[in-house]
Amino acid sequence: MPTEPLLVLFTQHPTTRQPSVVALSLDHKTAANYHACRCTSLPHCPITAVERGTSGGPLRAMRLGPPDLLPLSEALRARRGALARRGMIRVSVCFAGVEGRMEFAGLPCGCVVRTEGELMECLRRGHKGRLGLVKEMYRRGMVLWNQNRFENLVDVVGAADLRR
Ligand SMILES: [Zn+2]
Ligand SMILES: [Zn+2]
Repeated sequence: MPTEPLLVLFTQHPTTRQPSVVALSLDHKTAANYHACRCTSLPHCPITAVERGTSGGPLRAMRLGPPDLLPLSEALRARRGALARRGMIRVSVCFAGVEGRMEFAGLPCGCVVRTEGELMECLRRGHKGRLGLVKEMYRRGMVLWNQNRFENLVDVVGAADLRR
């Protein structure tokens, strides 16, 4: 089964300067909410707000602080199963400029996306940023995985029928 992508943010407490890592699962409901910042009214908004939508509930996120930070990969792997919904509703990422935000999460483009081709065009233009690309790659991986699983199931049923 394809591994659900994680967004890993390196953060620092503004007063204590204590470093931490916030990791959140990019499941199908987790997306940029352009209405939670000023992206819809201000083209140069440097902020991306990541949420699971109104019906999606809190983000599936975890925060790691020292001494969990090193080695980070092991810490993430070990605690991935414990991705908890601890009431983290929104993560707002503030970039130095609009370019960073565009690269990360794109913009409220208003593209009409009814077909795979239209979606690909929107992604190709960078409207959904890297966040959109990663989510689409995961979605495709899941589709392929499910197709393979279904085909294998069909083989098993076929073999069982032959033995009768
Ligand atoms: Zn914004
Ligand atoms: Zn678009």
